[in-house]
Amino acid sequence: MSNNTEVTKELTKKLSELRLPAFRECFRKEACRARKESLSYEQYLLELACREAEARMQNRIERLLKESKLPPGKTFETFDMARLPARVASQVKILTEGSFLDRAENVLAFGNPGSGKTHLLSAIGHELVYQGHRVLFTLSGLLVQDLLIAKKELRFAKALKNLRRFDAILIDDIGYVQHNREEMEVLFALLADRYERKSVMLTSNLPFSRWELIFKDPMTTAAAIDRLVHHSVILELNLTSYRLEHSKRARRGITCKEQSK
Ligand code: ADP
Ligand code: MG
Repeated sequence: MSNNTEVTKELTKKLSELRLPAFRECFRKEACRARKESLSYEQYLLELACREAEARMQNRIERLLKESKLPPGKTFETFDMARLPARVASQVKILTEGSFLDRAENVLAFGNPGSGKTHLLSAIGHELVYQGHRVLFTLSGLLVQDLLIAKKELRFAKALKNLRRFDAILIDDIGYVQHNREEMEVLFALLADRYERKSVMLTSNLPFSRWELIFKDPMTTAAAIDRLVHHSVILELNLTSYRLEHSKRARRGITCKEQSK
């Protein structure tokens, strides 16, 4: 008995030193089960190894989610897929598998304000994180400001390199804020840096035909579009605004209730 207590104590200490918290938590309970169910040594060890791997994956996902800055709650759990046109729904299904990241393909979501672009790409982003990918969500305007600061502080190349850690950068609402020339240039440099290297996912209310508003001159506009579109999946969300529809429904609900009083 005392021998067993000693072993347990020593094992707990060693497992802490080896940074195997799931082993440490589970080895006693699993040993009881192994004895009861006459499991082999290998089966017992495998069970513990699986627990450790699961816990590590869970921790990694939590870290990645925090790092991603994805809007919490904008996941597929809260997204009504039935609103999407059939073609977009089938594109989305493939995108959630994540293989577009291996090919450094881009995902470009266009549509009216409120059509669900940000929610949809964020939901895809969450799925990618659950698979262990590194994603970064950023508002286009903020990204541009950060890059501009990096440029002014002579660490622009480093900032671009830093962003290469992410398998996908989700640039939300490109074109929403009008940029000056300098701002446009850092945005273009980022797109050029990621071309055929890492994925860009972006949302925009502006169709390509109006992208000169973002990139100012026709040459840069064409070059930016060319790089983005070359390997890309385009999601056209020509839907009525979800917000508008819901507020209309809510108002109708209120009117009905008032009428039934
Ligand atoms: P956009 O980026 O196209 O302007 P958002 O993604 O911000 O639109 O969507 C506007 C609001 O409507 C958000 O609160 C979003 O969660 C919600 N929404 C949009 N489409 C859907 C949908 N298909 N299912 C559930 N909520 C949706
Ligand atoms: Mg949006």
